[in-house]
Amino acid sequence: MSTSTDHGRPDPEATSPAANSDGRPVSDRGDTVCVIGAGASGLTAIKNLREHGFGVDCYERETGVGGAWNWRHDRSPVYASTHLISSKPFTQFPDFPMPDSWPDYPHHGQVLSYFERYADHFDLRSHIWFGTEVIRVQPVEGDRWDVTTRSTGGYGPERTARYAAVVIANGHNWSPKLPRYEGLEQFRGEVMHASSYKDPAQLRGKRVLVVGAGNTGCDIAVEAAQQASRCWHSTRRGYWYAPKYVLGRPADQVNDTLLALRVPLRVRQWLYHWTLRLTVGDLTRFGLPKPDHRVYETHPIANSQLVYYVGHGGIGPVPDVARFHPYAVELADGREIDPEVVVFATGYLPRFEFLDASVFGDSAGAGRPTLWLNAFTPGHPTLAVAGLLQPDSGLFTLSHWQTVLFARLLRARRDRPERAAAFASRVRERAGERYSGPVKESSRHWFEVGHADYLRAVQRALTELEGK
Ligand SMILES: Cc1cc2nc3c(=O)[nH]c(=O)nc-3n(C[C@H](O)[C@H](O)[C@H](O)COP(=O)(O)OP(=O)(O)OC[C@H]3O[C@@H](n4cnc5c(N)ncnc54)[C@H](O)[C@@H]3O)c2cc1C
Repeated sequence: MSTSTDHGRPDPEATSPAANSDGRPVSDRGDTVCVIGAGASGLTAIKNLREHGFGVDCYERETGVGGAWNWRHDRSPVYASTHLISSKPFTQFPDFPMPDSWPDYPHHGQVLSYFERYADHFDLRSHIWFGTEVIRVQPVEGDRWDVTTRSTGGYGPERTARYAAVVIANGHNWSPKLPRYEGLEQFRGEVMHASSYKDPAQLRGKRVLVVGAGNTGCDIAVEAAQQASRCWHSTRRGYWYAPKYVLGRPADQVNDTLLALRVPLRVRQWLYHWTLRLTVGDLTRFGLPKPDHRVYETHPIANSQLVYYVGHGGIGPVPDVARFHPYAVELADGREIDPEVVVFATGYLPRFEFLDASVFGDSAGAGRPTLWLNAFTPGHPTLAVAGLLQPDSGLFTLSHWQTVLFARLLRARRDRPERAAAFASRVRERAGERYSGPVKESSRHWFEVGHADYLRAVQRALTELEGK
């Protein structure tokens, strides 16, 4: 039996006789499921669990929905010019289309308003505790979980509630990954991670070095080309800079047609090479390094402007940084440059600080759990991670289907335990399975998935769980 207020929320004053390992009181929430985070993945988890008949308590440390896309929050990684990199139909939730009047690649403000409308349409906000941070998640007997929370910023008392299941939807784009370089601490210029970059005014009139060639690094280099007095763009290797449009269509839509037709990887690579050859041509002509890998072996970079600005002299491609001096940066080829601002667009690392590393296995300390379908961990059938994916397309559709699968698994635990047991065996056998072709070894590709392969795998899991 859960102890709750009239609104179905845990009543902080009412506790059952249960206590956690420290002897502190625990509010028993019965069959209710806890969702951590109210970004894209958390919102769709609440919706899908509710639709399958479960009570949900979601904890969100910020004051609004939208996660990474909520620019009002300090931790949001979006900057003024952020637009979707994946196109609208391959990003949206399958049961909540973005408006037809919106462009192929909506602005981040539109993406946030999309989440706000989604939350209102499905009446999700009444299940969310805003300004509440999850600080501990501990397994207890019977595959249940004690979740300890406190107000964001550490004010107020800690509270623990016991849940039947937990969905971790805490995102993986908010904890900056910062490289170490000799001399960086002595460097006298301004150094920032891309997470602190918000507006091109931060670059205006300055000599800027952008480090990293992910989609964010390329966007910032393009902005620096237009605003800074000088822009160098340092990359570890050569990349394939793909245009956002191919044959007049968003590139991911063209790619998806090939995937739907099950065109083999080698043939898709060949077609992609030819498309690039016909559009941007030989990148080394622009002074860009020759890629040391085939297309699809690194996360796709969709940027139609980078090569354009390199071609117009606005961006100077340079190799990896070797070391920093107080007033200069030495490059791997021995050259020295003198930026005033260095922007590290070097990505983010996932963090699960509220969880003991043993829950996810040995590698969890590095933030890289071994999961099946990037979601399910062996030995903990009532725990799922949502959104721990780096797809070649949009994410929201994938989080939607992950959380539908988890809701059906929880239902099967009640109604068809033999199916749930078979699912648990699958998790043990297949944890760590990959859903992409070969990719370069880098933390950037830990969660890389081809969306078509991934969705087929989720579909198979749903069929095995529910089939006759
Ligand atoms: C610049 C940029 C561009 C991108 N472009 C695209 C794109 O074009 N298409 C695409 O699909 N994806 C894109 N992404 C990826 C993006 O991460 C996803 O779109 C999406 O935001 C992931 O949603 P999520 O809910 O999994 O995580 P998040 O959006 O990060 O949400 C996680 C939520 O959990 C909360 N939280 C975390 N820890 C706790 C805790 N301990 N207690 C309580 N709450 C907690 C956070 O406050 C946050 O609200 C982009 C990312 C960046 C940085």
